[in-house]
Amino acid sequence: MPLSHGRPYLAIPGPSVIPDRVLQAMHRPAPNIYEGALVEMVEGMMPDLKAAARTAHDVAMYIANGHGAWEAAISNTCSRGDKVLVLATGRFGPGWGEVARRMGVEVEVMDFGKRAPVDAARVAERLSADSGHEIHAVLVVHVDTATAVRNDIPAIRAAIDAAGHPALFMVDCIASLACDAYDMDGWGVDVTVAGCQKGLMTPPGMSFVYFNGKAAEARQKADLVSQYWDWAPRADPQVFYQYFGGTAPTHHLYGLRTALDMLMHEEGLDAALARHRRLARTVWAALEAWGADGPMEINIADPAHRSHAVTAVRIGPPHGTALRDWLAQTAGVTLGIGLGMAEPGDPAWHGFFRIGHMGHVNAHMILGALGAIEAGLVALDIPHGKGALEAAAGVVAAG
Ligand SMILES: *Cc1c(COP(=O)(O)O)cnc(C)c1O
Repeated sequence: MPLSHGRPYLAIPGPSVIPDRVLQAMHRPAPNIYEGALVEMVEGMMPDLKAAARTAHDVAMYIANGHGAWEAAISNTCSRGDKVLVLATGRFGPGWGEVARRMGVEVEVMDFGKRAPVDAARVAERLSADSGHEIHAVLVVHVDTATAVRNDIPAIRAAIDAAGHPALFMVDCIASLACDAYDMDGWGVDVTVAGCQKGLMTPPGMSFVYFNGKAAEARQKADLVSQYWDWAPRADPQVFYQYFGGTAPTHHLYGLRTALDMLMHEEGLDAALARHRRLARTVWAALEAWGADGPMEINIADPAHRSHAVTAVRIGPPHGTALRDWLAQTAGVTLGIGLGMAEPGDPAWHGFFRIGHMGHVNAHMILGALGAIEAGLVALDIPHGKGALEAAAGVVAAG
């Protein structure tokens, strides 16, 4: 019997659950884009946006999803024929590399598989071998949303430094900003790419490129800079429209302002990170108990390398799809598909799912989703270990 009527929970890794307050803030008449409240509000958002990435450097905003921010980052730093090194730990690093390749940049991919983080020693070795410094930039994702691996950004920075290599260090933080601790300046990142629809709890449609002085210098030589993607006027506008290279995304901005208020001022970034960490451990506790007897397995074995925003799960075909369908139809919970693990059409594709636990989520939502998964495992007769919900509750109860 469907028990799905009621408030649904979209437990996919983005778009994340949007707070009602964010939606309500967007529900208003069109504001003046030439002067007044909106103009002042946007200026006031810059410090919060920078604090979210822990940077004192510049940020450019785009009316675009993450793919747009990928393109913006390449456009402002690279020239046709430059070479970039992509560190691949799932689907999103190669995705960024493909954007660069289509722009005329030469792309070398170092693949670390789907179940492990970047091996910094191999990066140091590769960069040391590049004695002519042909590699212009190193591209990596902090959290790969497909595999749910979390890469050790400071270790990769240390590898670049150990090789004495001048490459720009560019990090995709789209799935991790405000979910996993990130420290752009402290970790020596030159360019950070982020979006609004994951940890920042705002409908898809805005993205951000943060850049430091070294990256700003690279822009002076980059021949892929175009008028629209140019980050310079956006980061230092003389006139309001330059923030967005045209009309501002008026309603998105009101939503984002409210989301930043909630995250950065009411809850506080550290508390939000701690909430994500605790809720991730709650999810893992249940998955580990289920996996003790049966096919369920967390894709990334070592908790130290797991994202706090999303967990990718292997359960074997057809259980992944069967469980997702059952949860959506019967319990009002939508789990994420397995992305980049197998091609759609391949029977193996049905053996994966992901749980998004990013953004505006709390203990009762996570415990509710886990309870619904337990019910699905029983209903579908999928073998699983006992005590998962007790284990999850125990993590929450530990305070
Ligand atoms: C979601 C995501 C993207 C892509 O963002 P879109 O808004 O879908 O273009 C890129 N990188 C990572 C790590 C992501 O999680």
